[in-house]
Amino acid sequence: MQHRTAFSRKDIRPRRHTGFTLVEIMIVVLIIGVLLNIALPSFVAARDKSQARSCVKNMNNFLVAKEQYAMDNKVPASSAIAVTWGNISPYVRSSPSTDPALGPHCPSSATLYYNFNPIGTVPSCQYYQPAGNPLAIHQL
Ligand SMILES: [Zn+2]
Repeated sequence: MQHRTAFSRKDIRPRRHTGFTLVEIMIVVLIIGVLLNIALPSFVAARDKSQARSCVKNMNNFLVAKEQYAMDNKVPASSAIAVTWGNISPYVRSSPSTDPALGPHCPSSATLYYNFNPIGTVPSCQYYQPAGNPLAIHQL
């Protein structure tokens, strides 16, 4: 018959290593940090590129909308009549966040708005400045 003592043979064996040490966790965090440092700039660049492409697509749609507006209202292409968002908004599907007066803003920034320019010219994406010479950001 076996008697159980205070310290059996099982208790004398070294404990199995469970969990992680602080150094192991720090090494894993360091590796994740290095990988993020490598990957994040390319993610940001890809996002910027896609927003610029989306902006150019928007300007293409505005160009088509301006032509439709000109045809519906019999505006000659040579007339330098300024086009506003109110003129072309029926021809463009826009989001609810679109400014009723200025129209949609560029996907790159909420401070970039479109200048629709006269019929027969291409729209431009620029900082909203009521006066002065605005700097075009994205070009069609
Ligand atoms: Zn833009």
